[in-house]
Amino acid sequence: MGQIKSEIIAVGTELLLGQIANTNAQWISEQLALHGIDIYYHSVVGDNLHRVQEQFSQASKRSDVIIVTGGLGPTDDDMTREAFQRISNLEIVEHKPSMEKIMAYFTKQNSTMTPNNKKQARVFAGADVIENRVGMAPGMIVTHEGKTWVFLPGVPKEMKAMVSDHVLPFLAERTGSNMVIQSTMLRFTGIGESRLEHELQSIIAQQTNPTIAPLAQTEGVAIRLTAKANTHHAAIELINHTKEKILNKVGEYCYGVDNEKLEEKVFQLLQKKGWTLAAAESLTGGMFSDRFVAIPGASTVFAGGIVCYDTKVKENVLRISSETIQEKGTVSYECASEMATNISKLLDATIGISFTGVAGPDTVESQSAGTVFIAISTKTGQQVEKFTFQGDRKTVRSKTVMKGYELLFQSLK
Ligand code: ATP
Ligand code: MG
Repeated sequence: MGQIKSEIIAVGTELLLGQIANTNAQWISEQLALHGIDIYYHSVVGDNLHRVQEQFSQASKRSDVIIVTGGLGPTDDDMTREAFQRISNLEIVEHKPSMEKIMAYFTKQNSTMTPNNKKQARVFAGADVIENRVGMAPGMIVTHEGKTWVFLPGVPKEMKAMVSDHVLPFLAERTGSNMVIQSTMLRFTGIGESRLEHELQSIIAQQTNPTIAPLAQTEGVAIRLTAKANTHHAAIELINHTKEKILNKVGEYCYGVDNEKLEEKVFQLLQKKGWTLAAAESLTGGMFSDRFVAIPGASTVFAGGIVCYDTKVKENVLRISSETIQEKGTVSYECASEMATNISKLLDATIGISFTGVAGPDTVESQSAGTVFIAISTKTGQQVEKFTFQGDRKTVRSKTVMKGYELLFQSLK
């Protein structure tokens, strides 16, 4: 491993014009890196036959594996095939199964196929054709003069399916390595990235396998552990050993692994305690409840929520006292506190949570944008917190929801 040099060429004028970002190259690189395959170049070339051809011939001189995305579609600006044919002189033939699929698609749609669609079923003679599970144009792996060429559609969903199902296993075999790469993500909340890195400094410094990569994400912080070993079992053992060391230091902030979500953890903790939850949402407008209800089985712990956006709803439905509203305002400790208590009583839930604040961009009741109060009320006590979130309206609202789950996680665990 490691001797194979690979590169990625993205074809598309849209990319050069800055209309879309080259996320394909980013994603493929991430996958190849996980498999220990070295990438030496990323390049982008517009839909121009001469320049695509030039880029291909340059790549053929310096790389062993060349991955090309885009330009396989039906239109005239799709010229990846033509460009490669010019440098390889390989014959292009019709791929029967793909052609049948395209025709069946048009029959089913009850529309007539324009002749250019046939182009999508054209592949290089002798190519390993990769079926397109999510779209029309197949991908191809072509071996030519000792180099491996992988041609993939530009559409990210189609490209990703082909890479995962077909290209990665193929390249793993080609590299002749029996190394297994295993990775896992540890997810944290209530601790910042720099603090987390600081706490783990000594572990990170000593560690090479698995590698430890802290990642700041929109939903808290994560650490990716990636281990290489001769067997799956050995890789998992390496990961588990380091995971344990990490959790010994910062385990109290860890809410889950891999794709686990914070709200799912809150759900599990509530379920374990046999408690129920209700939400009074002002600036979040139901976003908190929406996330919770997305969890299968949410009804066993989630009583419901009220979107109490307008002051009248806070007064008339949620029965917030008029003194509080007049003297303290709706964006206040007192209002948040009453909202949480009242929603838990109204919906007969063990815990009430409330959100009130200023999503922005304008100020409300002389409170600046980003000011948020969150209260959690239980039968035995109450917690009310004030936050000042940065960002636009959308960001403030989603940060508020995440903070709500974070506070619940901390108070339930
Ligand atoms: P199609 O059959 O749709 O024409 P194609 O293989 O010819 O597919 P392109 O026409 O180059 O691919 O791109 C199709 C779409 O895929 C683009 O409009 C763009 O939205 C997306 N896309 C293409 N290349 C990239 C890239 N490098 N990164 C992210 N998205 C991309
Ligand atoms: Mg196209």
